[in-house]
Amino acid sequence: MPASILVAEDEPDLRRFLVLELQHEGYDVVEAADGRAALDVILEGRCDAAILDVMLPGLNGVEVCRRARQASAIPILMLTARDGLTDKIGGLDAGADDYVTKPFAIEELLARLRAALRRHRIAEAAPQLIAGELVLDPQQHSVTVRGVPVELTKTEFALLECFLRHKNVVLSRETLMNRVWGYDYIGDSNVVDVYVRYLRAKLEEPFGWKLIHTVRGVGYVLRTPADAGADR
Ligand code: CA
Repeated sequence: MPASILVAEDEPDLRRFLVLELQHEGYDVVEAADGRAALDVILEGRCDAAILDVMLPGLNGVEVCRRARQASAIPILMLTARDGLTDKIGGLDAGADDYVTKPFAIEELLARLRAALRRHRIAEAAPQLIAGELVLDPQQHSVTVRGVPVELTKTEFALLECFLRHKNVVLSRETLMNRVWGYDYIGDSNVVDVYVRYLRAKLEEPFGWKLIHTVRGVGYVLRTPADAGADR
């Protein structure tokens, strides 16, 4: 599945240009024209990396980055004004991975994005994804609960991985459909509910605990049992 990149830029021509270039490179692209929309996209787990213009209406890019960092570790690139040294420092302080100064050469931006995605994967290469006593190893393609191996199908595994990468983030059915089944999937969105049931039957019922919580009218969220106390 191609990486999904958020483009947060309020100038329509520049946004359109970035979207087309990124699509041409084979990325999926999500657009936002203001800071609040951009923050929503990140917090809802709808992108794998973000390109944030510093000068955005609503919330500025630095503020979006700062707030996003409280819940998300995705690569974030800032677009800063020429000579905007304060912007750059602010962006890096807020947790941005890198910045590109406007006006920029698109090839430079694409190279920095690739580097940030690579670094991110390297940073993630070793670690297993853990929720309480559940451990998913992306490289071994294995899942254990309390040390007991659990066999998952390819789709069940992808869905669980998506939940674990966005722990404590409420994911809508639409987001899960797009991330696990792909944008071109044609079918009933009930498929998400069906697969959540499969996961619960394999991961929760035999072990007598609850991981995936239904958020009525919205979607699902995976919480580790320690974090879940609040909604019981
Ligand atoms: Ca702008």
